[in-house]
Amino acid sequence: MELTDAEKKSLKGQGYIAYKDGVHFSCRVLISAGKMNAREARKITDVCEKYGKGSFTLTQRLNVEIPWIQYQDLDNVKRELMEVGLAIGGTGMRARPAHTCKGSVCQMSFFNTEDAAQVIDERFYKGQYHELLPNKFRIIVSGCSNGCSKPHLGCIGLQGRKPDQVAISIGGKFGKDHVIGRELPGLYSMSEALDIVEKAMTYYRENGITGERFAKTIERIGFETVGSFLTGRALSEFNNM
Ligand code: SF4
Repeated sequence: MELTDAEKKSLKGQGYIAYKDGVHFSCRVLISAGKMNAREARKITDVCEKYGKGSFTLTQRLNVEIPWIQYQDLDNVKRELMEVGLAIGGTGMRARPAHTCKGSVCQMSFFNTEDAAQVIDERFYKGQYHELLPNKFRIIVSGCSNGCSKPHLGCIGLQGRKPDQVAISIGGKFGKDHVIGRELPGLYSMSEALDIVEKAMTYYRENGITGERFAKTIERIGFETVGSFLTGRALSEFNNM
């Protein structure tokens, strides 16, 4: 069966990535903050043995990718994963699931990154930003300034600096070319930071050009202008950075 490019794009938006052989797909399984329980892990193992070639890989973002699935099995894979509460997805022009470091178990972390990821996923990935953005929007969280999850490469990055105080960087990007995000002045509580994340996505939705990454929107409009809008701080505070 030959799929059109539009069909492949639609499947990619659902978490199925077509292989060049025209037959197989990889299935992206969302693993919040990289933590899966034993029941979920057993189901992933079962699914990759039943529908794939008996192996799976971990992605850079701590999700799971099950390769070598055939088109006729895609719905079965989704249904079986749903039996244990696992979902497929995390692709497309929308807010992506939060990418975190292992700050829920790392002794260096200033906060629980798993809790932060759950809040971010509920509010942004599953919430009103699930669609409708000019391009993908990545939120990256790290528990301390070691930045193991590379928050400066996120559209917006949150980095623990003091107990429950985070620095925020905006306009990062990685891929074929990469941009290091710049930090906004000051430190923020997690609650303040998440409000700024929401403002950033609203700003991007209203001011970004279709297909343009947030890094490019900031480059086009100016870091100072966007930063001033997001934080409510005077432009002069940015000019002196
Ligand atoms: S960024 Fe800090 S808290 Fe997170 S895993 Fe690395 S060292 Fe630990």
